[in-house]
Amino acid sequence: MDLELNHPVALVPTMGALHAGHASLIELAKKHSEEVVVSIFVNPLQFENPNDFSNYPKSVSADIELAKASGATKIWVPTFEEIYPGDPEIIASGEIGNIFEGVHRFGHFDGMLTVVKRLFDLVQPKCAVFGEKDFQQLFLIKKMVAQFNLPIEVISAPTIREASGLAMSSRNQKLSVSERDNAAGIYKALNLANSTPDLATARSQLTKGILAIPNFLLDYAEIIDGDNFSIANDSTSNSRAIIAGWINGIRLIDNMVMSNWSNLGNSK
Ligand code: AMP
Repeated sequence: MDLELNHPVALVPTMGALHAGHASLIELAKKHSEEVVVSIFVNPLQFENPNDFSNYPKSVSADIELAKASGATKIWVPTFEEIYPGDPEIIASGEIGNIFEGVHRFGHFDGMLTVVKRLFDLVQPKCAVFGEKDFQQLFLIKKMVAQFNLPIEVISAPTIREASGLAMSSRNQKLSVSERDNAAGIYKALNLANSTPDLATARSQLTKGILAIPNFLLDYAEIIDGDNFSIANDSTSNSRAIIAGWINGIRLIDNMVMSNWSNLGNSK
């Protein structure tokens, strides 16, 4: 494999179709290391639906430009065989991998952890940057790093949004203009929840906000404890609202820390 790197390395794993959210991760990585590796690999193991995998947006040459402009020193587009030369050792995501996103995307988190572990083993980064947008993913990666005692700092990056508040996502390009407008309702619902004085009101405002989104097919909306993914209660100090659902067959997820009323503990 042709991967000559100048260590120490900061790694930004992606599935390509890069946008400003990815660019912000690369810029953050650059603050931690001169050598910044951006991997672009659409990992079949984390797609439960083969059509979703084959239809995943691809734009490698534009990705290379964007990654370079953001500070990447190496853009690595590995083949399937490079990542999985033999039967991969599947990393089990455990209990937290089987709730919320895990319920709706069976096997997704095992596949995601399996590829991230392979990327870590191959690149040996000193740090790796992941977006808070995929909060459950970020949580599970931190857990895996602790579990295997890997000498890698996992750095979380804030969610970058469109002017409307819609969290940027490679999948957004599949939405029409009016569907994008509707999708911005997810951010409005999160803000509604956060603008309340307490958990009970937040829950009802979250529901109200979601019901106001036209043509939104909800998978889940919940307020959880961001430290352990249990359902938040009145003494939870790090509450976070999480939402996932569909607009016209496009899956959208988002989350927001409830900073207005949740007495923030250590955010993970
Ligand atoms: P993906 O290419 O969708 O697998 O995402 C690669 C990385 O970019 C993951 O760590 C995501 O959490 C992160 N990411 C995706 N969208 C955003 C966004 N809007 N803001 C910040 N990070 C993001």
